[in-house]
Amino acid sequence: MPVNDDLLEKVFITVKTTGRNHLTRLPVIIKTWFQLAKKQTWFFTDTNDQHLSQVTGGHVINTNCSATHSRRALCCKMSVELDVFLESKKKWFCHVDDDNYVNVPALDELLKMYNPIGDWYLGRTSTPKPLQIRTKFQGYKTTFWFATGGAGFCLSRALVLKMAPISGNGKLMAIGDRIGLPDDVSVGYVIEHLLKIQLTRVEQFHSHLEPMRLIKKDLFNEQLTFSYSLDNDPNTVDVDGFNEITDPTRFLSLHCFLFPEASNCVEK
Ligand code: UDP
Ligand code: MN
Repeated sequence: MPVNDDLLEKVFITVKTTGRNHLTRLPVIIKTWFQLAKKQTWFFTDTNDQHLSQVTGGHVINTNCSATHSRRALCCKMSVELDVFLESKKKWFCHVDDDNYVNVPALDELLKMYNPIGDWYLGRTSTPKPLQIRTKFQGYKTTFWFATGGAGFCLSRALVLKMAPISGNGKLMAIGDRIGLPDDVSVGYVIEHLLKIQLTRVEQFHSHLEPMRLIKKDLFNEQLTFSYSLDNDPNTVDVDGFNEITDPTRFLSLHCFLFPEASNCVEK
């Protein structure tokens, strides 16, 4: 498989995860797309895990944020992701959830189209309308869009630098508290509402809020991310390959569809 070291060399990819997902959600990521972006990808979690650290070459950051799905905990993690990105010398920040598959070459192609010297907020919305909020000035309503965190989104370094005085160093938590909204919405609020920089819609990011089966096989190559949910009504990518028992998320099969030469794909 072409593991090209130049691929994505300018990117810092963060995967938001939590202790209880380490053994359920991370193995398929580590077996698949992580192998194509080992140097660039970091797992942001809330517990120490020697094993995870070992299988990822030490690419685990314990944020010390609380291990709950609360708004505060999630804003805390996002905040650390952005702060650690700024410490790196990378040009692009891309965030994904631990139920995302990242199509590494496609992400590389996307980022080549934009100059990280400019302010770029690249992602996909999942609400039919922009969010409406009332600011502290009575009666004054304003709207803004945000990129769904569960689909993945990317920010240029220039933009994250502009966000830093407002939301850096843990201040994203205070913003989340102020508007009472989750981490991805808080990011949108800072960028669109406070900084007045618009989201650039990139429809090739996908969260499990959309039906995964609608993504056509012949367009898999162009998609940036995929996701799944395995609730009562499973929502997974429609791809042939391994059976549902071996590959419930469909990510192994998707990986082999995209990269037939990958080591875990050859003797299928
Ligand atoms: N997550 C977390 N702490 C928690 C619960 C979830 O950091 O206590 C992370 C999880 O690892 C994932 C993201 O938040 O990256 C979204 O969680 P999940 O997919 O379970 O829920 P969703 O919001 O997509 O329904
Ligand atoms: Mn999810």
